[in-house]
Amino acid sequence: GENYSYPPEEQPRLSPGQLPEIFRKGLSTHNLSILCLISGEYHYGILAADIEASQMMLSYLVSTQLGNAMKYHHLSGIQEQTQQKLKGLISQVNEKNQILSFLSENDYMTKCLNRRGFMEEALHLCKEKAGAAGLISIIDLDHLKEINDSFGHAEGDFAIQKCASILQEVFGRDGLLGRIGGDEFAAILFPPSPLSAEELYQRITDRFTAFNESDSTPYYLEASLGILPFTASVDVPIPELLKEADDLLYEDKKSRRNTLIRDNGSGMAPFY
Ligand code: GH3
Ligand code: MG
Repeated sequence: GENYSYPPEEQPRLSPGQLPEIFRKGLSTHNLSILCLISGEYHYGILAADIEASQMMLSYLVSTQLGNAMKYHHLSGIQEQTQQKLKGLISQVNEKNQILSFLSENDYMTKCLNRRGFMEEALHLCKEKAGAAGLISIIDLDHLKEINDSFGHAEGDFAIQKCASILQEVFGRDGLLGRIGGDEFAAILFPPSPLSAEELYQRITDRFTAFNESDSTPYYLEASLGILPFTASVDVPIPELLKEADDLLYEDKKSRRNTLIRDNGSGMAPFY
């Protein structure tokens, strides 16, 4: 026989005058049967067919199977859509997590690790380098308040960024650098060849001197340092080592200039 299927908006009203042609001719010799294609709470349409009374039971079973097949098709479409949506959401969450993790471990202004990032990375590095000789340092910019007060906060920010980039050159390749406070940095170095705390101190101050000689800032960029040798291990007490390095920094701070301004209006060179 022939099958007719209509989209919902074109479905005919099933009065005899509007029936498909096959049913219009000789209605008396045909049995128009209409079976609903239903599965659970869903109704997918009707099956209108010329069915002999003896085939009615079988046709009913066929219609329930058709209903089930349509429900399966319908639900698998929904499942596919849901899976696509879920995939999209998961990739959004992953992206956001990466951003959050970056923000929680890095300092936006200097692009260095922040305190938390430094602590985490320092522990990893010390595990990885267990047994190796290292140097742990605290570095604090001198007279940043004076730079802020005399030249503005933006210049103070520049001084912090410049300090970070000088320190990055020293510690970046064989160590770790973090900005752990406003103008305070912590660093770890595992020098490829033996290096004393005094040699590292000199290496860092030489970099600051080179910057001050080549740059035309109206102030000297200087920092106080506390450097401590240590041996890496799986349970190295980083906070205690940083505290010890901070005590050395405090001693170093005492030997600093009174002012960083190059020409302080007195006509005299800045004094120590
Ligand atoms: P000292 O020589 O003893 O280190 O004195 P200091 O003026 O550098 O002051 P201290 O290290 O005790 O404190 C740091 C100051 O740096 C406090 C605050 O005014 C300033 N500061 C902290 N964070 C920032 C920052 O992100 N940008 C700027 N421009 N200034 C900051
Ligand atoms: Mg300072």
